[in-house]
Amino acid sequence: MNIVLFGPPGCGKGTQAKRLQANTGLVQLSTGDMLRAAIASGSEIGNRVKDIMAEGKLVDDETVIAMLSERIDAPDCDKGFILDGFPRTLAQAEALDALLKGKELEINAVVEMTVNDEALIERISGRYSCGNCGAGYHDTFKKPETEGVCDECGGKDFDRRADDNADSVRIRLDAYRNQSAPLLPYYRERGKLIAVNGMAEMDEVEKEIKAVIKTA
Ligand code: ADP
Ligand code: ZN
Repeated sequence: MNIVLFGPPGCGKGTQAKRLQANTGLVQLSTGDMLRAAIASGSEIGNRVKDIMAEGKLVDDETVIAMLSERIDAPDCDKGFILDGFPRTLAQAEALDALLKGKELEINAVVEMTVNDEALIERISGRYSCGNCGAGYHDTFKKPETEGVCDECGGKDFDRRADDNADSVRIRLDAYRNQSAPLLPYYRERGKLIAVNGMAEMDEVEKEIKAVIKTA
């Protein structure tokens, strides 16, 4: 089973992909995480994409497709995967189809997580994560039990993404509307698209996604 989690920045793709990975055995493939890892490692790709990402613009298709295509060949992807943040343009979707075809694989379902715009901006602008274990927090919606200490690992260093500021969020929402939203009709025409309500509680969203992928 291979699925795509699709939706605007802040819709909860990353949160749900991690939950599904933990209890379904499918691997999360997040191009955003891969790019952030490239930046952190100081690699050539990382240096090239650093400013583009911080501004909230999309990285070029060629770079992202090459990265994803290499990752999909790793043995842990044999059990199936959850794409999170890819594809984001029609060129990426077409490249993905071609890539999978060559491996006799396919995307079984594209889960669209619908969320209203005000909620997105609120969710993104307050979020941060543990620098040690990656657990996610939010200034309003999910503070750690003890202020400044990670619930999961006791870590005391937290990170905020360079692109989680008001200006970049606006650019990311525009990029979603202009470059990514055209994928909705692409997958609808191919009978792959299923929508879930991303405004529901996280547990509820997880249940909905699991229910729809069972039928895919
Ligand atoms: P979000 O969905 O919350 O915006 P991501 O972590 O998925 O966060 O992506 C963050 C940034 O990484 C994007 O704004 C973009 O610059 C870059 N990026 C991630 N995936 C892609 C992709 N498939 N194509 C182009 N750029 C990408
Ligand atoms: Zn932690």
